[in-house]
Amino acid sequence: MNKKKLAQFRSQLESIRSELLGGFEKSNQNVKESEIGQIADISDDAARSYSRQLEGELGEQGWQKLKQVDTAIEKIGEGEYGVCAQCESAIPEARLQVVPYTEFCTQCLSEMEKNPKATSIIDEDPFEEN
Ligand SMILES: [Zn+2]
Repeated sequence: MNKKKLAQFRSQLESIRSELLGGFEKSNQNVKESEIGQIADISDDAARSYSRQLEGELGEQGWQKLKQVDTAIEKIGEGEYGVCAQCESAIPEARLQVVPYTEFCTQCLSEMEKNPKATSIIDEDPFEEN
């Protein structure tokens, strides 16, 4: 994939990301401002509770989407964008244009839909408690 296209996908991903986060930041501004006096420095606990709060606010779907968007942006930085995380073949650009944060090619995705347990490999949340 050429640099121009990568840059396009990147800006697409970044606007999806700020859309997701934008709503959250707005609705939580009052809470955060009142907490600043109490939390002197951002500890791991604070980051964790922020993350959990964000997860609650976005809902399961929005949270998953945010994680996928983050992963995709990381992959662009690593030069691995557009490669299926499962079979390592190239994801068709037409698909990336529809879902720029997709991690899998259409073939792997349809196999996962048939067999939902296989998706557990992508469900690694360090903040998960249960
Ligand atoms: Zn694949």
